Amino acid sequence: ASNEYDVIIIGAGAAGLMCAIAAGQRGRRVLVTDHANKVGKKILMSGGGRCNFTNMYSAPENFICNNPHFVKSALSRYTPWHFIELVEKHQIAYHEKKLGQLFCDESSKQIVQMLLAECASAGVKIITDTSVQVVETGGQKLLETPQGKLQCESVVIATGSLSIPKMGATGFGFELARKLDISVLPTRAGLVPVVLDDHKLKPLAELSGISLDTITEANQNSFHENILFTHRGLSGPAILQASSYWQPGEPLKIDMFPGIELAGYLAEMRVEKSKTALKTILAEKLTRRVAQLWCEQWVEDKPLGQLSDTDIEHIVSQCQPWTVKPSGTEGYRTAEVTLGGIDTDALSSKTMECKNHPGLYFIGEVVDVTGHLGGHNFQWAWASGHAAGQFV
Ligand code: FAD
Repeated sequence: ASNEYDVIIIGAGAAGLMCAIAAGQRGRRVLVTDHANKVGKKILMSGGGRCNFTNMYSAPENFICNNPHFVKSALSRYTPWHFIELVEKHQIAYHEKKLGQLFCDESSKQIVQMLLAECASAGVKIITDTSVQVVETGGQKLLETPQGKLQCESVVIATGSLSIPKMGATGFGFELARKLDISVLPTRAGLVPVVLDDHKLKPLAELSGISLDTITEANQNSFHENILFTHRGLSGPAILQASSYWQPGEPLKIDMFPGIELAGYLAEMRVEKSKTALKTILAEKLTRRVAQLWCEQWVEDKPLGQLSDTDIEHIVSQCQPWTVKPSGTEGYRTAEVTLGGIDTDALSSKTMECKNHPGLYFIGEVVDVTGHLGGHNFQWAWASGHAAGQFV
């Protein structure tokens, strides 16, 4: 019958489409449904419109998950090289931006077109603008849509998570899990700018738009990348990465002189350039405007020759690291990802199937797996989608 499928996948994003391709290629009758008016909206907006579709060095260490071993099986069976092969087969030009991050030369649209072409040749049917409810999860699964009932053997939840509600993000997967007594770990925004509300930090808003090379640390995880001053606080790759490890109330430690032992350096300069102003020396690494502000607010500008050891200690304490307490993050509104989600203890790491609900699968970001910045989140979507696609 036309309402009967082997597999129904809810969510036509990165993970859902990859799963559909893999299942369709096995000859399964596959339907993908999405409530949005078009598929893959997050792919389209990703990587500034060029989609950072994978990372050549993606490894289990690049993922945050309550069980760090969970990701290994799927990642090892679908590697970045598998996805690169697909991209090359579709003659999509790409380049490495930095640190193994691969981007389309032209447009993220090409990735969506590639996935849709693969779906078409695997005989996958896709319907958009359709909300569904899972009403029966026993042997044969039953789903309800405004257009009528659907039946299938396997249901795959690929609805992503809470980041960017404007793009159609919903808590669909979490609500279904709760109804079925599947454990959901607490969620929070990740890869997200932080907000600085403390009035003492207000002058920093003047620096909005400036970026600096740093080593930024949250909760003993550090990233050698740029920070970016914003009107409301801090952003940039180092801050986004650290935000995934940061907990409310904790500080971020920002080494503004990576690779330089600042105390020793200032002691040397005190002798070599005794007449030079501290501000001038700081500006070499911090930019003129940042050095100026630090000297107005937190350290006293004087000729280097006049710095006492105590002065040097104080300067170091304000820059290496600069310890700053965010009042919060910008939240799901601007977060690239959501931490937490479906507890991996409830799933098979080989198939993504629910241990207590045969035939029900969770893949992609809805699961408690969050990648670092730089293409790892898509790699998880492809790998977990592919893993489930072999078994649904
Ligand atoms: P999604 O791709 O979000 O797909 C979920 C789908 O489910 C959507 O189509 C949605 O409409 C649908 N859906 C949701 N609720 C329902 C419902 N109730 N009923 C039916 N359908 C529903 N990662 C990278 O690796 N590289 C990047 O360059 C990158 N850039 C990003 C930029 C931005 C601005 C954002 C927000 C994220 C970025 N990410 C990036 C993260 C990446 O987009 C996600 O990790 C990835 O898309 C997750 O894939 P998914 O298939 O699990 O979810």
